[in-house]
Amino acid sequence: MGCLFCNVLEKKVPADVVYEDEHALAFKDIRPVAPTHVLVIPKKHIAAIHDLTDADATTIGQVMIAAKKVAEQLGIHANGFRLVVNDGDEAGQTVHHIHVHVLGGRTMTWPPG
Ligand code: AMP
Ligand code: ZN
Repeated sequence: MGCLFCNVLEKKVPADVVYEDEHALAFKDIRPVAPTHVLVIPKKHIAAIHDLTDADATTIGQVMIAAKKVAEQLGIHANGFRLVVNDGDEAGQTVHHIHVHVLGGRTMTWPPG
């Protein structure tokens, strides 16, 4: 079976890629919940935030920088956007390769569901 997002990285699963650099890949979510909904993933497989170690500090920082670049590139940075990372079952994590949801293009509500 393997990891779905590792398969996206290896181009075994198609994705609508909007940004790529040495450390991260960004592609459109197949079930968007906002006018702009992109997932940013590290090229290194890390299953979840709760698996992070100090050695991952640079990797996770690069993912956040990539998310910021995606927001700029897609033009949602001026009005505001939301970054979401679900961790574990109660948070609704369904894919076990860290991904930052970049959400924008509409007014967000708080608290999140
Ligand atoms: P989460 O529930 O936080 O783990 O988010 C997983 C996200 O991945 C969901 O928003 C799904 O819609 C999205 N997703 C699942 N499979 C794919 C895929 N093949 N390509 C793009 N997005 C996907
Ligand atoms: Zn993976």
